[in-house]
Amino acid sequence: MENMEDIKSRHSEHLYNVMEDSVVEQVKIMIARDGETCGCDVCVYNISAIALNHLPPHYITTQKGEMFARVEKLNMPDKTQITIEVLRAIEIVKHKKMHD
Ligand SMILES: [Zn+2]
Repeated sequence: MENMEDIKSRHSEHLYNVMEDSVVEQVKIMIARDGETCGCDVCVYNISAIALNHLPPHYITTQKGEMFARVEKLNMPDKTQITIEVLRAIEIVKHKKMHD
């Protein structure tokens, strides 16, 4: 009998949520443009988490850890929707101090 942890870690080798990368990337770009929002890891990932909770996941399959995301550009999530949610998330985090 295999336990849940084994099943989970095996799946994560084959399933990958492209939305995560796209959102984190977009958060970093928009923070840099904004100039007022803190760009530390805590804030970047807090903003990303808020945005990701409002966006649908976008899964791809991977083989031997290799990502198809780089190759399959057509399969990328909608950039407009990501931008809207990232903007919203930045506004939330900006007005709520996450750290000293
Ligand atoms: Zn910060």
